[in-house]
Amino acid sequence: MRKKIVAANWKMNLTLAQGEKLVNELLQSGIQLDAHKEVVIAAPFPYLIIVKELLKGHPGFYVAAQNVAAEKAGAFTGEVNAEMLHSIHTDFVIIGHSERRELFGDSNAIVAKKIDLSLSHGLKPIFCCGEPLEVRKAGTQNAFVAKQLEEGLFHLTVAQLKNVVIAYEPIWAIGTGLTASSAQAQDMHAFIRSQVASKYGAAAANNLSILYGGSVKAANAAELFACEDVDGGLVGGASLVAAEFAGIVKSI
Ligand code: PEP
Repeated sequence: MRKKIVAANWKMNLTLAQGEKLVNELLQSGIQLDAHKEVVIAAPFPYLIIVKELLKGHPGFYVAAQNVAAEKAGAFTGEVNAEMLHSIHTDFVIIGHSERRELFGDSNAIVAKKIDLSLSHGLKPIFCCGEPLEVRKAGTQNAFVAKQLEEGLFHLTVAQLKNVVIAYEPIWAIGTGLTASSAQAQDMHAFIRSQVASKYGAAAANNLSILYGGSVKAANAAELFACEDVDGGLVGGASLVAAEFAGIVKSI
């Protein structure tokens, strides 16, 4: 059975005290995780060690970085590399988020480098893909996402792919309050899984968790997560409020 995952992307929000309060409230919110369910908190770099410590003794809860350097090490002021993240016991790393692609120039080639460095240092990438509004309006979203997969991910071996999670995040639904309908999400997730199946075979595709991201809330999570190929969510705004995020987690 493939993993069901809900990941919180705090982005550049919350002070340390606010983040600690949020994690503590979440841990006290009565979430029950069985063996195939996971919760991931993608906190800002300076909080990772502390959030990891708070999650100790809570099986199924993991920490993620929101980004990683595309270079191994050296004179790259301000960057944080995969080895550093691994050395502080970070579990996952979000790679290729649309905000990184749009605002910080993360091309498919850079995303591919970040994926490789993360995997070689024991981090599990959450590979983000998704189309902008004009592509959705033109009806060419499948080709757009297929190119992101081909250039960013499909150089991996089947063994490497086992440690990857995909997040489909239509850009027009991120932070906008517009959610893809469950039919739109299911269609794209099934398409992504079929692409993975053609490249890596049915078993690899069936084992891969594909998360949906884009204005997920407690009120729409259950319907989205009920779709056959939607294995959870990557949640931005709604992950900043403990009761709301707990409601989403309880829907997986
Ligand atoms: C995100 O940033 O990955 C995201 C999906 O944000 P939001 O839930 O706020 O749309």
